Amino acid sequence: MKKLYAVLGDPIGQSMSPIMHNDLFSYYQMDAAYHPFQVKSEDLKAAILGLRAIGISGFNVTVPHKSTIIPLLDGVDELAMSIGAVNTVVNEDGRFVGYNTDGLGFLKGLSTYLPSISDRKVLVIGAGGAARAIYFTLAYNKPQVIDIANRTIEKAEELIEACPFEVSSRALALNDANNHLEDYDVIIQTTMIGMSPKVLEQPLMITNLNPHALVCDIIYNPLETKLLKEARQRGATTQNGLDMFVYQGALAFEKWTGITPDVQRMKENVLKQLGGTQNVNR
Ligand code: NAP
Repeated sequence: MKKLYAVLGDPIGQSMSPIMHNDLFSYYQMDAAYHPFQVKSEDLKAAILGLRAIGISGFNVTVPHKSTIIPLLDGVDELAMSIGAVNTVVNEDGRFVGYNTDGLGFLKGLSTYLPSISDRKVLVIGAGGAARAIYFTLAYNKPQVIDIANRTIEKAEELIEACPFEVSSRALALNDANNHLEDYDVIIQTTMIGMSPKVLEQPLMITNLNPHALVCDIIYNPLETKLLKEARQRGATTQNGLDMFVYQGALAFEKWTGITPDVQRMKENVLKQLGGTQNVNR
């Protein structure tokens, strides 16, 4: 019988996940399909009951359901529980078990540029859901420093307080971060500022950027945000959000099927949909 996979979110029309996973199912000759479902917050509980009834094999959840799904599941792995967000659910013999592949997906993408972060000073811009997954996953891997700069400084403080892994961290205002930008080896932009269609916005000035820094923006539409363009023009190495997106999807696919998928194929497929080229950032 055909296996069914899905992504639940609101909105969901912009999601690249169906294209990416359906291509993998056909490439690995699997009788399976992946479908996007727009589910409003108030309908999430009913949607999960429906997915149980039809025996879905696995699904992704995206904004705004990543935290609210947790009490509706039968189990949540330790990292996802500490992050407080799930983006991947696996049907394990009738039990819906939640995982978070966002942070690990980011780390895998980062490692293609930087094999180790252990002696690096990192600045995370933003303190929302994606920042939380990235911050906790990086903290577990013990860089020298991970500071967090956010518009609402209290949220950065809360994130640092909530982290179960010991790491040297300070909460900063966005302006403050720019004043000390040359201190950081890796800068990770995790807010939605600069995302299409508001492509002329950027969350902070980067006038004091260290030209040897690696600057990552987890946005992939556009492939090069205003922040990344400016960083590249100042001599920094830049990485967009495509690697994170592809690796979080690859980790989910592996959990569902046991197959480690061809990430290069996934990346090219998404790039084709976005109308971009492979060498935008390198
Ligand atoms: P979120 O939880 O809503 O967090 C939003 C963050 O953006 C907060 O830090 C918020 O600051 C900040 N922010 C919002 N408006 C701002 C403004 N006008 N000026 C300054 N800061 C502002 O969102 P999220 O789920 O973390 O997602 C953030 C972005 O990550 C989205 O663009 C999403 O598409 C992207 N993402 C990419 C991937 C990938 O695979 N590449 C995966 C997940 C998410 P306050 O705390 O002050 O409100």
